[in-house]
Amino acid sequence: MTARVGVLALQGDVREHVRVLSGLGAEVTLVRRPDELAAVGGLVVPGGESSVIDKLSRAFGMQQPIRAAIAAGMPLYGTCAGLILLADRIENPIDGQESFGGLDITVRRNAFGGQVESFETDLDVAGFDGPAHAAFIRAPLVTATGAQVETLAALPPELGGGIVAVRQGNLLGTAFHPEVSGDTRFHELFLGSVRAA
Ligand code: GLN
Repeated sequence: MTARVGVLALQGDVREHVRVLSGLGAEVTLVRRPDELAAVGGLVVPGGESSVIDKLSRAFGMQQPIRAAIAAGMPLYGTCAGLILLADRIENPIDGQESFGGLDITVRRNAFGGQVESFETDLDVAGFDGPAHAAFIRAPLVTATGAQVETLAALPPELGGGIVAVRQGNLLGTAFHPEVSGDTRFHELFLGSVRAA
């Protein structure tokens, strides 16, 4: 069964997600309008700048349709800024910044300052048969999780041990960018939820 999925295409690394999802055999469309969202069975919220994606999603009339889709159980996968947009709580939003919500987590934007602002590392991920190579680019951290949230990966102790991949029901979020480092397993997990939904 071919999964029909969308990538929210308001800002960010849209093309990289389209490439990975197409490579996995999904039918991928760009989503900017409510009718385009209604035509897909799952949505990726890309990396980029969460405050910009937030603002544009409200300007394009997409915030409420996306919230409704999440409430109805649509599978979504957010990377980096996308993870921030799926979080119920942002520790340090810019003035007026909102999220779609859905994941019962608190995130801290730009959690790595100074020299480690961007870095790569290998992560052990629950359910994966080998480590995932992960690229962090001005990445957020998950600083609190509710009871329904499953932690899929945390940083190694020498990098602080923070939570960087989570799942709750049909929502998946990573603080890093598998679409950049070439690991397709998170997108496969997402497509699995889409096929099952
Ligand atoms: N720092 C960005 C934000 O707060 C996220 C960076 C990214 O998506 N690579 O939205």
